[in-house]
Amino acid sequence: MAIRRGIETESPRRLRVSADHDEATQPGRARAVGVGARSLRRTGHVAGLLQNSASMKQSIVTLDMEGVLTPEIWIAVSEKTGIPALRRTTRDEPDYDKLMRGRLAILDEHGLKLSDIQNVIGTLAPLPGAKEFLDELRSFAQVVILSDTFEQFAAPLLRQLNWPTLLCHRLIVEDDHIVGYQLRIREQKREAVAAFKRMNYNVIAGGDSFNDTAMLGEANQGILFHAPDNVKQQFPQFPAVETYADLIGLIKQAMA
Ligand SMILES: [Mg+2]
Repeated sequence: MAIRRGIETESPRRLRVSADHDEATQPGRARAVGVGARSLRRTGHVAGLLQNSASMKQSIVTLDMEGVLTPEIWIAVSEKTGIPALRRTTRDEPDYDKLMRGRLAILDEHGLKLSDIQNVIGTLAPLPGAKEFLDELRSFAQVVILSDTFEQFAAPLLRQLNWPTLLCHRLIVEDDHIVGYQLRIREQKREAVAAFKRMNYNVIAGGDSFNDTAMLGEANQGILFHAPDNVKQQFPQFPAVETYADLIGLIKQAMA
């Protein structure tokens, strides 16, 4: 009870400060900021988000990584190693476990180690415009990348995207050999969106492939980005866009 009282006595003061500040600079917006500030009490967001998001639903945007922000890692590995069988992705094989077991068997056959693949990933850059898109998006919404990639693969690409938050999986590595992989939980993309919704966030999800469609369906608004025709045809319920400008436009609509 003491803790609860503490929050209640502290919050109105913060609320008043926000409203006063806003009234001084934008007289017509004081009420909207007051509503936003009550939500902020729960989450502790920085005040910098307040001005942009005051009239928007408090939202989290969850994005797939490969095909949305970065190239497909396995396609790049296939090209650099000259092994065409590694080109298959979740776009071709919806069963992720089957796909990964196949990939690991091929690596084993060709004697490719983790460091070989990391060297290839080190040569990749994010998709053109991806960093600018993320920078803009993160100025008015919380963003979490939900990917079926692995921690050991993602770092060189995250660095170039200014270290956004990534939830993904982990490879099991022994002496530089990839011997398996560990999914933290099954259906992690959908589970993460469901958890954010339970925390009373408006969730907007963007992805390009079969492994994103459960997440898109769970979200308050799912959006296909850069999706191939077969995915768009099978999931006509999701709006599909091809440019970052259009994606930002749909996200803002879903936040309004
Ligand atoms: Mg993808």
